Amino acid sequence: MTQSIKDNITQISDDIKTMCKHADVPLNTPRLIAVSKVQPKERVIAALDAGQIDFGENRVQEAEERWSELKPLYADITLHLIGSLQTNKANKAVALFDEIQSVDRVKLAKALAKEMQAQDRHLPIYLQVNTGAEPQKGGVMAGDLPALHSACNELGLNVVGLMCIPPSDDDPSLHFALLKKLAKQQGVSKLSMGMSNDFALAAAMGATDIRVGTAIFGERVKPT
Ligand SMILES: *Cc1c(COP(=O)(O)O)cnc(C)c1O
Repeated sequence: MTQSIKDNITQISDDIKTMCKHADVPLNTPRLIAVSKVQPKERVIAALDAGQIDFGENRVQEAEERWSELKPLYADITLHLIGSLQTNKANKAVALFDEIQSVDRVKLAKALAKEMQAQDRHLPIYLQVNTGAEPQKGGVMAGDLPALHSACNELGLNVVGLMCIPPSDDDPSLHFALLKKLAKQQGVSKLSMGMSNDFALAAAMGATDIRVGTAIFGERVKPT
């Protein structure tokens, strides 16, 4: 298992690099974020020991249980919050995470700005866009993005990019293209897009952050 997680990371990183080269993407190689949610601890440690630096979690509570223990042991890691965040957890999220990719409403932006001020931790944030306009999914609607971005700027938040999770039954390239266009309109440079099934496509389309879970760690298993 240990060996295969290391191999998976190497393989995916190589594929991303090759794709960027072939597609002539004029950017630095994207960051590979290992999505460790609902993965057993030994798999996460295998990734850490393989030198993986960026990790993504989608729930504050679960992330806190795991990373409050592991983070002090691995000094250089960067923890990304990629799941929906309730305003009453903004406090914990700002304390634990290094970047927040799931900001999707003004109320949450306000809570985060307040906490960042209080804790003097000024984290880069991404605005999550609901590119498929799915009612059950998080993310700001594309039409409401400019207003949310302005509100974040007024609050002094450091908005660096956009993030999306395309509908599972849609061609992801449609959503990656939309996200890229919206980022250009908003004047932000980071694009968090691409997961296990479409990371190469995302790399070709200019992703700067690629979030991969199962292709690195294997199928997610519920913690016992
Ligand atoms: C779970 C998750 C991923 C990783 O999904 P895989 O298909 O396992 O690679 C990426 N992004 C977000 C926001 C997620 O919640």
